[in-house]
Amino acid sequence: MKNGYFGKYGGCYVPAEIKTELDELYSQYIALKKSKAFRDELNYLRKYYQGRPTPLYYCKKLSETTGGAKIYLKREDLNHTGAHKINHCIGEALLAKHMGKSKIIAETGAGQHGLAIATVCALMDIKCEIHMGAVDIKKQKINVEKMKLLGADIVEVTDGDGTLKDAVDSALNSYLNNYKDALYCIGSAVGPHPFPTLVKEFQSVIGKETKAQIKRAQSRLPDYVVACVGGGSNAIGIFDAFIKNSEVKLIGVEALGKGKAIGDNSATVNYGEEDIYQGYRSKVLKTPDGKVSDAYSVASGLDYPAVGPEHSYLNEIGRVQYVTVDDKQALDAFYALSRTEGIIPALESAHAVAYAIELAKRLDKDKIIIANLSGRGDKDVEYIIENLS
Ligand SMILES: *Cc1c(COP(=O)(O)O)cnc(C)c1O
Repeated sequence: MKNGYFGKYGGCYVPAEIKTELDELYSQYIALKKSKAFRDELNYLRKYYQGRPTPLYYCKKLSETTGGAKIYLKREDLNHTGAHKINHCIGEALLAKHMGKSKIIAETGAGQHGLAIATVCALMDIKCEIHMGAVDIKKQKINVEKMKLLGADIVEVTDGDGTLKDAVDSALNSYLNNYKDALYCIGSAVGPHPFPTLVKEFQSVIGKETKAQIKRAQSRLPDYVVACVGGGSNAIGIFDAFIKNSEVKLIGVEALGKGKAIGDNSATVNYGEEDIYQGYRSKVLKTPDGKVSDAYSVASGLDYPAVGPEHSYLNEIGRVQYVTVDDKQALDAFYALSRTEGIIPALESAHAVAYAIELAKRLDKDKIIIANLSGRGDKDVEYIIENLS
């Protein structure tokens, strides 16, 4: 990253007063990450509140039934709140506290980011304002109730389609009017600089642990690291530690949903076009008449019509390969992992598992694949029962 750019991607395309505020946020972060008190507090919470380090688990049965390479899972599903998102939420909330902000503003789609941020706000006595589309509020009742239970204020967004992208606009607007007292906390490695870098650095704990754990288990680095990509935070979090090790192949798995047609998938790196969206330059899914397309995936955490700028860059320089997995393949992996290992994965994470299984079949038994299990599947069980059984 140089001045907020990854190659030509990234940047900070926002009104001048917000840019000043975001520059200030970045310099405070740079100062704070050198502070021992800040690092100690972060490490303490990671260990005793969140449950880190998360295990790196060898799927013996899954590997044997697949009949090829060894499959390991990095168990981010075992974090408090059930997914990797709390890694950067704890970081962002600590940052807010140290900057003297009394409030955090965030948006949420499926409710997973909202839930993680509401959790840490409760812990740290920070006011929490979550913007959520009216349609999503109806769909995600349990998460909405949990956020209220944790003390968050939910702002119902009725503009537009009442979904995630309208919630982002609404949250940004609220931040514009409140930036002296509030910090905006983004849900993935997206948005204007410095958010992609902040989120990556807080998420990079995943890759650091994984690297040490696989060296301990196998005395060498893995051949492949596989992660699902929505905005790209869990993927960049596990990739970052391996980017310099060119012998480790890195694979980002995008959601192909129902197919290749625009509107049927969320595979932005594969099918998107370069543009500026929500304050940063990256790849974006566009309709033929040049509007931002709706994204679709069975996994609601993946259906975002853009992607973090660093992924557009890593694709361009060829360091990460971006592949696709469709709804059906993800669901098959959801069942397979549940049955063989007793682990119910999030539908998002099932995309990474699906690709790891396909890859393992083509490789020799001495090869090692690590898939990032970004979250647990409890949140998806109701959907599975209603729609698929
Ligand atoms: C939100 C979410 C994702 C997608 O977000 P990224 O920023 O791409 O990681 C993936 N898995 C789970 C479990 C999620 O909750």
